[in-house]
Amino acid sequence: MIHFEHVSKIFDDQTVIDDLSLHIERGKITVIIGTSGSGKSTVLKMANRLLEHDRGRILFAGQEIRSFKPEDIRRRMGYVIQSTGLFPHWTVAQNIGTVPQLLHWRKEKIHARVDELLTMLSLNPDEYRSRFPHELSGGQQQRIGVARAMAADPEILLMDEPFGALDPITRAGLQAELKRIHRLFGKTILLITHDIDEALMLADHLVLLDGGRIVQQGDPLSIMMQPANDKVIEFIGRND
Ligand code: ADP
Ligand code: MG
Repeated sequence: MIHFEHVSKIFDDQTVIDDLSLHIERGKITVIIGTSGSGKSTVLKMANRLLEHDRGRILFAGQEIRSFKPEDIRRRMGYVIQSTGLFPHWTVAQNIGTVPQLLHWRKEKIHARVDELLTMLSLNPDEYRSRFPHELSGGQQQRIGVARAMAADPEILLMDEPFGALDPITRAGLQAELKRIHRLFGKTILLITHDIDEALMLADHLVLLDGGRIVQQGDPLSIMMQPANDKVIEFIGRND
């Protein structure tokens, strides 16, 4: 669904992504893991055109990413970030309905979609649709962030350390929920994390990024069984 071909990104004089080639397969969960500063967020932002790449090509559904209008990207790709980015003075329903509203969906259709998503994420619509973000727990806010990203049924979900700020139990719950949603709808997901356990649990395809370069990629099991070098071994052994 998304192809990176020899992509580089240079900030000032620093090459932060160096000759990256990566295929995000339709219907799969691709996880990029790497330490802080390794370039993970930069990859994600180039995928949805929040950042322009300097070298190489990025194709989305077979077409150069630069040829898409920003509003088409917003409709076709859902984006979830660590700090949920919810609008504090908007209700849950208004937050979830952001993109459908931009797309001029009818009111009834937006309401129905909001209720459907809340139910799917195990939040009772009657209880939650009129609440404000500060009236929710961290885990609930993050669920609303996921619901908002999924509202207009995007073709791909881009998730940048979506559960990073949560306690371990809430985090495990949301990971399981994401797995369940993925099984139900087979949505394509590109998720970023620095947590190896999260990566191993979620990934169909795992990509290890270090200093803007891919150290190894493949299915988690074969990476575990045949780590390419000491860097990978160190990473798999980490537990932070
Ligand atoms: P990660 O998400 O893996 O922590 P990032 O992709 O955010 O890493 O950053 C990778 C590198 O690029 C870091 O060295 C960071 O300082 C640098 N960087 C990121 N955004 C910018 C920017 N807008 N201007 C200059 N340097 C940046
Ligand atoms: Mg980041």
